[in-house]
Amino acid sequence: MKIAVVGTGYVGLVTGTCFAETGNDVTCVDIDSNKITKLKSGEITIYEPGLEKIFLRNLKENRLHFTTDLAEGIKDAAIIFLALPTPPGEDGSADLKYILGVAGELGKLLTDYKVIIDKSTVPVGTAERVRAAVAATYKGEFDVVSNPEFLREGVAVDDFMKPDRVVIGTNSERARKVMGDLYAPFVRQGNPVIFMDERSAELTKYAANSFLAVKISFMNEIARLCEKLGADVDMVRKGIGSDERIGKRFLFPGIGYGGSCFPKDVQALVRSSSEVNYEFEILNAVMKVNEEQKLHLIPGIKKYFNNNLTGKKFALWGLAFKPNTDDIREAPALYMIDALIKEGAIITAFDPEGMKNVKASIGDTITYAENQYEALEDADALIIATEWNEFRTPDFSKIAAKLKNKAIFDGRNLFDLAALRDLGFHYESVGRAIVN
Ligand code: NAD
Repeated sequence: MKIAVVGTGYVGLVTGTCFAETGNDVTCVDIDSNKITKLKSGEITIYEPGLEKIFLRNLKENRLHFTTDLAEGIKDAAIIFLALPTPPGEDGSADLKYILGVAGELGKLLTDYKVIIDKSTVPVGTAERVRAAVAATYKGEFDVVSNPEFLREGVAVDDFMKPDRVVIGTNSERARKVMGDLYAPFVRQGNPVIFMDERSAELTKYAANSFLAVKISFMNEIARLCEKLGADVDMVRKGIGSDERIGKRFLFPGIGYGGSCFPKDVQALVRSSSEVNYEFEILNAVMKVNEEQKLHLIPGIKKYFNNNLTGKKFALWGLAFKPNTDDIREAPALYMIDALIKEGAIITAFDPEGMKNVKASIGDTITYAENQYEALEDADALIIATEWNEFRTPDFSKIAAKLKNKAIFDGRNLFDLAALRDLGFHYESVGRAIVN
């Protein structure tokens, strides 16, 4: 099939590459000419494990093309994916200007039947608005389908190639057939393609992300309670996770969720709810808990340094909002940096993939180390904000030798309390006893 993907970011590039990998002819369109020049010349623009290899293979096989020209991109395509940003507007609702803008342009360009697919996360009713924007100038036949994307950054290729499920919202038999054929290679092991009406499909994506955010904020509140009651959140997590109704995943406490999806999607669902006079009370609490949680380690750090962080130097391990990505959008580390700098602290950070984006965003507000141990030079303490695998079993003797104080503040509960006690560290984590 000939496919166009409009928007070549985290979702668009993965979507385009994976559809090319199953033999389709894919053209990815983006207004960012820099990005398109790089991609055309074989330079990958995001860090995503496993993506580069299949990107290069499909580029070489001439199944993957890139352009800044929408007309050229959609020319022979039977299917057009919209993988465009839907950032929060001023009131928290999803800003649809990119989606509706491109839909309006498509209306001027279409000459025959095409299936236009909302892959972006969009509020209920967007498919109808996209349809109206196209139909304002194009009077021929076309379908608009809601096909929300559930991939997770860091494992996006696997998630796309072997999805738990594919959700397709459409009432059109013709579009249903096209979508079923397109996704058939991805669900050969029997994972379901769930067809539904477009409004339910649109809501499914928000419900999924919001539910996961509920789990995170719930566990973070349990962690706070553990600290006050002298319980250990790791034990509680194991205790409840073995109940199949609860499940083991997504029960890890920490310094809050970040990224480009959970914060904006929870906010957008709250906003959509209030537009129909419904106060989504659980999600209001989830957002509040998460805001506070990002700074959960700060009081402990201040207390350790007698409430005076002026001139104190911190090594910060981890900047990306989670491991295995270079995405720093809404990363808890950035909130911590902001809070610590305001207190007069000085920060040297290391992140395996996120430093380039942080440099572009906050420049020399902090310094950047070549590796995790270099960040420790001359530091008063170590703070951990992202659970990269390489931080999990560090050389503690090196850490102890480099730090001025043997103090670690860990927002991701990477280390064993007894081990850190034996090594003589002051160690604070989330929802567990303080090791002194
Ligand atoms: P992104 O910012 O990484 O990529 C969006 C791309 O669209 C950018 O490259 C931008 O230059 C391009 N663009 C903007 N206007 C354009 C236009 N008029 N024409 C062509 N290209 C244009 O965003 P993303 O993370 O890929 O997210 C896209 C959508 O998918 C969002 O709605 C998001 O909520 C949703 N989503 C994201 C993820 C994720 O993990 N990132 C997962 C599932 C769903």
